[in-house]
Amino acid sequence: GSSLAVFTSGGDAQGMNAALRAIVRMGIYLGCKVYLIYEGYQGMVDGGKNIQLANWYSVSGIIGAGGTIIGSARCMDFKERPGRLKAAKNLVKFGINNLVCIGGDGSLTGANLFKEEWSSLLQELLETDQITAEEREKYSFLNIVGLVGSIDNDFCGTDMTIGADSALHRIIEAVDAIVTTAFSHQRCFVMEVMGRHCGYLALAAGLASDADWIMIPENPPEKGWEDKLCKRLAVQRESGHRLNIVLIAEGAIDRDGNPIKSDYVKDIIKNRLKIDTRVTVLGHVQRGGSASAFDRVLATRMGAEAVLALLNATPDSEPVVVSLNGNVTCHVPLMESVEKTKAVAKAMADKDFQRAVELRGSS
Ligand code: ATP
Repeated sequence: GSSLAVFTSGGDAQGMNAALRAIVRMGIYLGCKVYLIYEGYQGMVDGGKNIQLANWYSVSGIIGAGGTIIGSARCMDFKERPGRLKAAKNLVKFGINNLVCIGGDGSLTGANLFKEEWSSLLQELLETDQITAEEREKYSFLNIVGLVGSIDNDFCGTDMTIGADSALHRIIEAVDAIVTTAFSHQRCFVMEVMGRHCGYLALAAGLASDADWIMIPENPPEKGWEDKLCKRLAVQRESGHRLNIVLIAEGAIDRDGNPIKSDYVKDIIKNRLKIDTRVTVLGHVQRGGSASAFDRVLATRMGAEAVLALLNATPDSEPVVVSLNGNVTCHVPLMESVEKTKAVAKAMADKDFQRAVELRGSS
């Protein structure tokens, strides 16, 4: 059978463990040797104990656990060719030429580059007597498949990234908790949620929690939005509401591209409406805790699909990302999706919000 390895890279997200479990077990079920690479690309570069053969029970009891049991890291070494050369040598020595990368667009870009360079890396290893001619022959191709783990749901090419639904649950729980205390004291809470340049978490959480106002990067408010916000909150108070919830995406910006800070919004409400207003920044609790049922099932499906994609890959097939389209798991070209994701970031930076939304919507 083939040998494959899985690693997690970039920021962690709930559901990564469920994906690991599915990859290990699907791999073993299909007769593969499955290796776990600890600490992301750093473990691949350092080798040794960072690369370990998994068995069925290596991934017991982790389906719901948040984070990633094999660790994740940012790795500067892998960004340079000498680091990738070491990584290639380690993989060849372990007999691995199939990789599942669970990470964000940076990690997937690295994986793609690694695949493109693979034959030249092996050539260099051969010329410097670090591998044998048989090894080069045997492992002449590197197959990679990506899974997107990110609470932000900011990747073009999949309807949902692994972790976004769990983060949403965490946010809703926090809003529900805040609502009870806000009600008692007739307060307004400005709640800041994660998502980087993507407003998905703020928007979906706002819909699910009956928020009074939502601010997302994709829809920067027009000048004078402060008046509209205050008017809306005032109307609500006059009609008997005892509390307000304003949800702000951490990447929220105005029409000029300047960040809209939670404290600024709080001060506006406090000073103009004389409502007792507080800020709650949810932070990393959104990325912690157990995975939701949806993320466990999604990651399990994607993990199983990733193994099938690897085993079906031919030397000239393009790397893919396993994605969700509607309710169906499918494959999309890895680099195309990464490039689209980067194009969205660029459109946002250029303040071309229409284009950003179009790019996102078309994938
Ligand atoms: P997140 O979206 O959660 O931050 P990410 O995968 O985008 O995840 P990055 O920090 O961008 O996170 O990348 C993780 C690691 O992937 C980097 O530390 C580096 O080792 C590797 N990597 C990223 N970009 C490249 C690249 N262009 N070439 C080689 N390796 C890269």
